[in-house]
Amino acid sequence: MRTLGLIGGMSAESTALYYGHLNRLARERLGGLHSARLVMVSIDFAPLAAMQANGAWDEAGEMLAEEARRLEAAGAEAILICANTMHLVADAVQAAVRAPVLHICDATAAALTAVGARRPLLLATRFTMEKAFYRDRLSTAGVEATIPGEADRARLHAIIYDELCQGVVDPVSKAEVLAMIARAEDVDSVIFGCTEIGLLLSADDLALPVVDTTLAHAQAASAFAFAG
Ligand code: GLU
Repeated sequence: MRTLGLIGGMSAESTALYYGHLNRLARERLGGLHSARLVMVSIDFAPLAAMQANGAWDEAGEMLAEEARRLEAAGAEAILICANTMHLVADAVQAAVRAPVLHICDATAAALTAVGARRPLLLATRFTMEKAFYRDRLSTAGVEATIPGEADRARLHAIIYDELCQGVVDPVSKAEVLAMIARAEDVDSVIFGCTEIGLLLSADDLALPVVDTTLAHAQAASAFAFAG
């Protein structure tokens, strides 16, 4: 089993989900007392969130690159950036290490393709929804994502940072996000494109197929761990 390196804390709420998924997947595969071989750094999210808000992406990329170096030095054979948004600096992180950075978009596109979905609604932070890096990468895999309208994007961004990343799960916010999904036109699936959205919604809440990026990323990483 290969050792996975997790850059976590973005937020800590979803890093706990990664930890749970990766250990469960290892146990499902090997049974008994088996668990995943992991090394993790869990950052303080507040300074990173300030860099995001200020558009200091180069600085944020250098910070995550340094964390990836630490993970590689500690034995990580692949790196996971445990958030969608921070894949905006995935190239900077990859340039810092020899171990592959397992990209969350690739895992997401593969999971969508596996259920025959090509036109998902992308629910995420404003950065992930509005900047080109995420939808462009999906597009290269033949997946054309749609995003909610301006007011819904602003509200969803606030729900992610002001509630979910702080461990607050509010049924009123859940109803709001379900209404956003109901407003979407010409979509065949939904991407939980923020690693905390699975705290608020589950696939059972929706008639459309769902890809939860946290789970898809963990599944791809687990497959990597057991391929070697
Ligand atoms: N975890 C979130 C994501 O998947 C949002 C927090 C962040 O900006 O890193 O994008």
